[in-house]
Amino acid sequence: MQKSFRTSEIPSLTECSPCTDCRPGCNETPLNTEKVTSFPEKSLEDCTGCAQCDRTCPAMLPISEAISEAREGNHEALEELYRACTGCGVCIESCPEKIPILNLIMHGARERIRKERYLIRSGRGPIQDIEIRRVGAPIVFGDIPGVILLAACSNYPDGEEDVAKIADEFLKRGYIVMAAGCAAMDIALYRDEEGKTLYEKYPGDFDRGGLLNLGPCVANSHAIASAIKISNIFARVPLERNFKEISDYILNRIGVCVITWGAMSQKAFAIATGANRWGIPVITGPHGSKYRRLYLGEEERVINDRRTGERVESEPGPPHLIYTAESLNECMVTVAKTCIRPNDTPRGRMIKLSNYIDLHMKYYGCLPQDLHLYIREDNEIPFKHRDEILKILKKMNWKPRKAPAEPSIIYQ
Ligand code: SF4
Ligand code: SF4
Ligand code: SF4
Repeated sequence: MQKSFRTSEIPSLTECSPCTDCRPGCNETPLNTEKVTSFPEKSLEDCTGCAQCDRTCPAMLPISEAISEAREGNHEALEELYRACTGCGVCIESCPEKIPILNLIMHGARERIRKERYLIRSGRGPIQDIEIRRVGAPIVFGDIPGVILLAACSNYPDGEEDVAKIADEFLKRGYIVMAAGCAAMDIALYRDEEGKTLYEKYPGDFDRGGLLNLGPCVANSHAIASAIKISNIFARVPLERNFKEISDYILNRIGVCVITWGAMSQKAFAIATGANRWGIPVITGPHGSKYRRLYLGEEERVINDRRTGERVESEPGPPHLIYTAESLNECMVTVAKTCIRPNDTPRGRMIKLSNYIDLHMKYYGCLPQDLHLYIREDNEIPFKHRDEILKILKKMNWKPRKAPAEPSIIYQ
């Protein structure tokens, strides 16, 4: 008897056994199940080892070496490629033998793909006004050390796990982490030692330690809107015809930062540019350098105190408007520094510096040497490592300075 299948029952190619039950009921040309499920040995034999694929792969993966190992019967190296391969297909295009390299990688990683299970919080859309009222003050004064948006595509330098590691690192420190588009989905792939995804570990509120899935890629705009809402609802900066003032408020007072760790599309670049226009700094992954745009800030700065009308010395907070981090370690440390703002209260500054110092110690193994730029008064020095920090301040000839009451770069 012929067996009929509903679409939902059709196994994915990686789950095919092959039992061939589908063959008799197939109204189209029957799928060659042996071809689908058997390893494409012939392709392995055709590889000449010219390494052209290695030279063109944007992720610099050792493809020819993995194929050579697979020829010897060891498919582990191909499985390892799957972790960091973005599926761009550039290697196939450049291969003189037209070897289906992606098929080889997928076959090598079949077991891994079979076990992959996602768990994602549904996309929630915009941040509500009531949530902004609750956390506006702790964000602007620095008690919540920062608001991070993980935006953009999956062109990660070393696999999707990294984007979840970034989220986890900052969530456990009390930052608010928002995600949208492919980054939000990639976070759902990662599980901790207890088998939990970050969506199970952290609440979905716009509050300290909350992980929000904003929705699809276009929902990144909700993150930028949350900063605009803070300036409007919390600080009462009028919305209408006020782009410049709101951007100035966000730049100087709201510790928000966008990370496009796997950016590759024009849309991702548009998100970064949109954030910049509203005074929100962006850190891209190594592939972001291909956009050929960096807005680098100067170390020594003078800004305006809107309340007194004076010009005052300021920290480089944020240090840059668009910056490309070369490694995950650099990203972690730079994000903490990028959430520092001239408006931080002494307590807020101490919290932000504690995170910056902790992350610098964790990822670089030493204290940052630019603390003299960020510490304004003695009461902002974190208790941990206080003695070593005082030595750095002395070496750098540090002098206390007053924080501006209403920092701005547009008011004279
Ligand atoms: S480019 Fe093609 S033939 Fe050359 S090493 Fe890569 S897979 Fe083999
Ligand atoms: S498809 Fe994967 S292996 Fe091939 S070039 Fe792109 S990233 Fe490299
Ligand atoms: S631009 Fe495309 S690839 Fe990038 S995050 Fe959006 S949907 Fe994903």
